[in-house]
Amino acid sequence: MAVDVYLSEEEIANRIQQLADQINKDYAGKELTVVGVLNGAFMFTADLIRKLNIPVELDFIAASSYGDDTSSSGQVKIEWDLKKEIKGKHILLVEDIVDTGLTIKSLKALLGSREPASVKLASLLFKPARNVHPVDIDYLAFEIEDKFVIGYGLDYTGKYRELPYIGIYSE
Ligand code: 5GP
Repeated sequence: MAVDVYLSEEEIANRIQQLADQINKDYAGKELTVVGVLNGAFMFTADLIRKLNIPVELDFIAASSYGDDTSSSGQVKIEWDLKKEIKGKHILLVEDIVDTGLTIKSLKALLGSREPASVKLASLLFKPARNVHPVDIDYLAFEIEDKFVIGYGLDYTGKYRELPYIGIYSE
């Protein structure tokens, strides 16, 4: 098996700093609740929040999709829910990758139903070629080709999350 570097550690760090600069501006004078989507977004979430200079609270959520996740009938099951109430709070959902869009569309709707002050989305990656559930990504680090990527939090059968870069896996 081989892993080709697709986005280097440095490219990722530079882009995260740019996103954080924008988030710091947009939420100046406000408090932000950052909700990382487990497991894939743990590294992105950790790196993003340490570049924020506004007051931040951190929570996590995990979901899995089942059924035909490439169609609108796909379902998302909440595997781990938030520990705190979000009513009246500004929420930033942080996702690793928006592929079909089903997971994040469902999570955004779920959090939106809990009466937060606002819900925005930050995603490390977006694969437009596979998107069937359109969702606004307020802070997107990278748009990528239709390739299966690993590393920097993203796995292949549970492995490679620890890689500090994003790579393309090949047998
Ligand atoms: P969606 O609901 O948008 O179709 O799926 C999103 C989830 O699928 C992501 O959170 C991620 O776990 C997984 N996924 C989609 N594309 C990739 C990919 O290229 N690499 C990896 N490792 N996971 C992916």
